[in-house]
Amino acid sequence: MKEDIIKGSCLCGAVNYQIEGPFKIFQYCHCSRCRKSTGSAYASNLFVPPERFRWTSGEGMIGRYEHPDAKYFATNFCKQCGSSLPWAVKGGKNIIVTAGTLDDDPGIKPMCNIFWRSKASWYEESSDLPRHDEFPK
Ligand SMILES: [Zn+2]
Ligand SMILES: [Zn+2]
Repeated sequence: MKEDIIKGSCLCGAVNYQIEGPFKIFQYCHCSRCRKSTGSAYASNLFVPPERFRWTSGEGMIGRYEHPDAKYFATNFCKQCGSSLPWAVKGGKNIIVTAGTLDDDPGIKPMCNIFWRSKASWYEESSDLPRHDEFPK
């Protein structure tokens, strides 16, 4: 077993996957499709070539939605717990790993925000805000 295998899984644990670095692209995407599919201010998208991505369990639990108007965008999710999961772009050139589902450190940090113009009206850049390790008391 190689040591650079990075593991990920959904919230309920039914779906598991593995990826292998090195990775080149890691972006925060603020587009409305990513916001809606993740339910969050932005998606944390790590790009992985298909040959370095593998489902290790629960592939039958994965649902997929392909947006009819989108050139590349689709989304995968666990049918049991609803977690966003890594998805292949239409055409299959890349797997977009939803980095919040990683269980290991991929060894790369996001380098930029994309679709910044589409960001949520309520989004606050958090770098200067107080930081809480857990829920504030
Ligand atoms: Zn699940
Ligand atoms: Zn997006």
